[in-house]
Amino acid sequence: MTKATIEAPSQAATQSAFRSSSIFNELGMKQDPDNLYLQTIDAVLTAAEILELPHHVKIILAQPKNEIMVHFPVMMNDGKYHLFKGYRVQHNNALGPYKGGIRFHHDVSLDDVKALALLMTMKCSLARVPFGGGKGGVKCDPRSLDNDELMRVSRRFITAISRHIGPDIDIPAPDVGTNAQIMAWFADTYQGMAGSSSRNDALGVVTGKPVDMGGSLGREKATGQGVVDVVSEILPSMGLPLKGLKVSVQGFGNVGSWSGRLIEELGAKVVAVMDHTGAIRNDEGLNTEVLAMHVAETGGVAGFGASHGATQTGKHTQEGAQAISIEDFYRTPVDLLIPAALEQMITPENADWIDAKVIAEGANAPTTPAGERRLLERGIEILPAILCNAGGVTVSYFEWVQNKTSTYWDVEKVDADLNRHMVMAARRTQLAKQRYEVDLRTAAYIAALEQIGKVYAMRGIFP
Ligand code: GLU
Repeated sequence: MTKATIEAPSQAATQSAFRSSSIFNELGMKQDPDNLYLQTIDAVLTAAEILELPHHVKIILAQPKNEIMVHFPVMMNDGKYHLFKGYRVQHNNALGPYKGGIRFHHDVSLDDVKALALLMTMKCSLARVPFGGGKGGVKCDPRSLDNDELMRVSRRFITAISRHIGPDIDIPAPDVGTNAQIMAWFADTYQGMAGSSSRNDALGVVTGKPVDMGGSLGREKATGQGVVDVVSEILPSMGLPLKGLKVSVQGFGNVGSWSGRLIEELGAKVVAVMDHTGAIRNDEGLNTEVLAMHVAETGGVAGFGASHGATQTGKHTQEGAQAISIEDFYRTPVDLLIPAALEQMITPENADWIDAKVIAEGANAPTTPAGERRLLERGIEILPAILCNAGGVTVSYFEWVQNKTSTYWDVEKVDADLNRHMVMAARRTQLAKQRYEVDLRTAAYIAALEQIGKVYAMRGIFP
């Protein structure tokens, strides 16, 4: 176990933007305004303050229960060993086993994983799925590993954290840089360690598995489906019907591509897409299904107009798809922008460029607090991540239930139940916004904290 570095706050930092500095001081937490964990906990504690949660609940939520850090060697294909660093942070389990993804990314850090674990606690509570919050990561660049190396990294990591996870303890899932194949290796490795009598139960140790190996139908598209369910619930009431809605999508991995494809099916037009390889625009609407095939083949959206320029597929031609700059991507006039890439992508600088009416956060924490202030000042509504992207963990919950009961749901049931969870989460958020006269992010945290606060009030603190 490793604890985050604790530093005494400097005089200047104490006067910084944090609203919960008294709790930060009490817990000896540093006060770096650029730190994602501190930004996130500050926003959650502000909501807790509005809700008048007791002090002990606030300090419990301000730090994760467990921070697990591991180092493990893996033999690479050249015969040399590389030492990898991995994390699993278990933020809170008041509502159920810790739950949340594991990411493979070269920028993974303990504080980022802590922030994401906290967001999982909030997300599960808001969506009313009976889980707490956790998150994990391995510091690596999965694009530079071949299939065998990726398998060895996956198996060694899950072995390293195996004592801390389990179907009723902590249940990992996919996140940035991981997928159903990696979940299959995780599940198989864990099952191998569980012994034959509990092999079947052990399958539920991870979700997001391939459908043929205990995964759920509808899980792969679930986060994008959830984004679209929330947008369909909220946007029409803001005078923005989905038919003809102009949309831009930042990031075209699992969440971005499914959000784009599913919103297009409802009559919206995806006019601009950006990812780590570049940005493209077509005011007539990009064919997101063809774009997803291009990304699967080439690794990114760059070159889309060029390689598919002359083709006519389904409803659209791609003749009008043009490469644009990052700044032009943000400046493209749209009704809805879906950030579906990494954290902290929307900064005060690009917030000034954004020409959208609403932002639906498909990624976790894509907006910095300073970026958010600019957007709100400019009258741009933000549908927060813990609401918009709760679809993934909700269908993970369905997968876990199916594993526990040895049943398989059809996709219609998965989609209908997911929609019910998403619509109820959206309504809870809107209700809290009206009742407490706050922005939607604070409202979502309030709606999540209401449930956690109730449970702590009922069960108390042992002993
Ligand atoms: N990684 C996803 C998230 O951030 C899914 C988590 C899960 O299914 O447990 O919500």
